Amino acid sequence: MKGLYIHIPFCKNICSYCDFTKIIAREDVQVRYISRLIKELHSYRKELSNIDTVYIGGGTPNVLPLYLLKKLFLELKDILDKACEKTIELNPEWIKEDLLDLLKEFGFNRLSIGMQTINEEAIRLIRRKHNKEIVKQAVELCVEKGFKNINVDLIYGIPQTTLKTVEEDLDFVLSLPIQHISCYSLILENRTILMKQIQSGEMELLEEDMVADMYDYINDRLKKSEFKRYEISNYAKEGYESKHNMLYWTGQEYVGIGCGACGYIHSIRIDNEDVLNRYFESFVKSTERIDVWEQKREFFLLGLRMVEGVSKKKYKELFDTEPEKDFDFTDLVGQGLLIFEGDRIYIPEQRLEVANMVFEKFVEVEP
Ligand code: SF4
Repeated sequence: MKGLYIHIPFCKNICSYCDFTKIIAREDVQVRYISRLIKELHSYRKELSNIDTVYIGGGTPNVLPLYLLKKLFLELKDILDKACEKTIELNPEWIKEDLLDLLKEFGFNRLSIGMQTINEEAIRLIRRKHNKEIVKQAVELCVEKGFKNINVDLIYGIPQTTLKTVEEDLDFVLSLPIQHISCYSLILENRTILMKQIQSGEMELLEEDMVADMYDYINDRLKKSEFKRYEISNYAKEGYESKHNMLYWTGQEYVGIGCGACGYIHSIRIDNEDVLNRYFESFVKSTERIDVWEQKREFFLLGLRMVEGVSKKKYKELFDTEPEKDFDFTDLVGQGLLIFEGDRIYIPEQRLEVANMVFEKFVEVEP
């Protein structure tokens, strides 16, 4: 499997918690960006010959005018025709018929809608502009247009919210005709509006216990639904797991294109320039060869995010040795944080909440 990720860094307004590569830009800048993106795409001609999954993320890809999206899709046509999963992230406010028609025309078969919450106070607080009705109408329009694989993103742990907020968000999301839910806890990141608000005392983060209760509630509730958890933060109806994201967690190769994108090809991690002006000058900021030891470590750091965990056989195939010869799992197994079962090594689902404790062990180990 091989993937292609394309980053569209434009947004119409900036969410308070966001630390992604994003910018509010005029149309002439967007025009220039798409030309630059296409140039970068051409620079990867060889690597793009057998792409299985395409993911267009952001930022907000659907802030781009349709003619610019079309210009990009025309360049991607051969890749889109051959790829099995083609996802685009969409802001619910700008999901319109003509956009969906364009996406259909180019074969997009998975939509990822950034909802986060439907609580009006929380939406205002994170500086978004949608409401429950906008999301409902957007999802219904996607279904009407024949999209059968739709993800909705949720965020919990937003300041001033309660368990009731999470309950209402889940009531709503479970009432939608969707197939996938990504559910993330709000993380306080440096250089965000939220960080300034917290530092100035204008806002307070929720207590850790409250966030933990929200996490438990979400997992208990989704366990009783048709959505099955398959990764720390991702839940899908059977057969709707994101192929593109699975590719990241199983250490496959992917090409990353655009400002702030990163890729992993031939054991080299490629980080693109993440400031727009610099991206206009040069695509790549840095490259790093991932040595075999780092690949072994990442095999666990990424693979153990999945509920299914990792395969011992796969490890042997990749590295020609047994995982037990490289890592001492005694403590993790003893603490019930890791289970060996047949070919699988995995974190028991009820301990995924503390997966970081497992990851720290792999980070600490020296070759
Ligand atoms: S969270 Fe998404 S929509 Fe909001 S500013 Fe960041 S990239 Fe833009």
